[in-house]
Amino acid sequence: MTTAPLRLGISRCLLGEEVRFDGGHKRDNFLTEVFGRYVEWVPVCPEVEAGLGTPREAMRLVGDPRHPRLVTIKSGTDHTKAVERVTAHRIQELEELDLSGYVFKKDSPSCGMERVRIYNEHGMPGRNGVGLFARAFIEQFPLIPVEEEGRLCDPALRENFIERVFCYRRWRDLVQSGVTRQALVRFHTIHKYLLLAHHPQLYQVLGRLVGQVHQHRPKELAQRYGELFMKALAVKATVRKHVNVLQHILGYLKDRLRAQEKAELLGVIGDYHRGLTPLVVPLTLIKHYVRIIDVSYIHDQVYLNPHPKELMLRNHV
Ligand code: SF4
Repeated sequence: MTTAPLRLGISRCLLGEEVRFDGGHKRDNFLTEVFGRYVEWVPVCPEVEAGLGTPREAMRLVGDPRHPRLVTIKSGTDHTKAVERVTAHRIQELEELDLSGYVFKKDSPSCGMERVRIYNEHGMPGRNGVGLFARAFIEQFPLIPVEEEGRLCDPALRENFIERVFCYRRWRDLVQSGVTRQALVRFHTIHKYLLLAHHPQLYQVLGRLVGQVHQHRPKELAQRYGELFMKALAVKATVRKHVNVLQHILGYLKDRLRAQEKAELLGVIGDYHRGLTPLVVPLTLIKHYVRIIDVSYIHDQVYLNPHPKELMLRNHV
């Protein structure tokens, strides 16, 4: 599916390491036991790496949401500089590792990706903070897929994140092998239905961009394409958009199917549309016919197999 190792950053406490302020951990079973089989984790704990020790006094973000400070709750000790220093150093190291994603611990003043509590001068919390390390990481690597472990409990967000991780890895493999015009056209072709399931407008924009492939330098084209590609995939696929894609695929197959087979396929797509079955049901039948009929354009679509089937991510969306 990909060539380079699937290497992801992760908040270290999610792997079960006892690095939290209270000496505990937040081991996440899906990440360690299930997704972990496909991933080489790169654990980071900015607070421990900043020398703050375990256990340590609990901290929170205070002040300006754009430039908050990281301050201990009881003694008011300001650890902003120590964590910022280690963050800058760590981000340089992570750049070398060519990560394909990052899973952050939610609500943490260092690692939380969004909606982290941030306190104003009156001690009142707002829910608009971003952890110091998470903010720096996202600013430095805007295309790398990121998620929080809490949000990954939502099957649609989980599927979307893991799909983006594999897509990003494929994109990086292409970039590293040197993007030629021909390779970019091929890349776009096999991702068409996936893009359509996420963002029909950007699917069109990307199609036009690839159509002008001879008017651009490959490097500039690749940069623009990569940004829009990841932006499109970051928008969640919906039942309606999946139904649209399934009908497109059916359009390719229909002349080769018997009336009864077509009716059965339409029936399972309809059941999925009405919420009676998960996405895996119409897809399994479609993949069955794609194998038999062997339409190479459909057969090669990443949409049909965006991540290992053992993860069973489409059994719940
Ligand atoms: S949330 Fe981040 S800083 Fe806190 S213990 Fe986990 S890895 Fe360390």
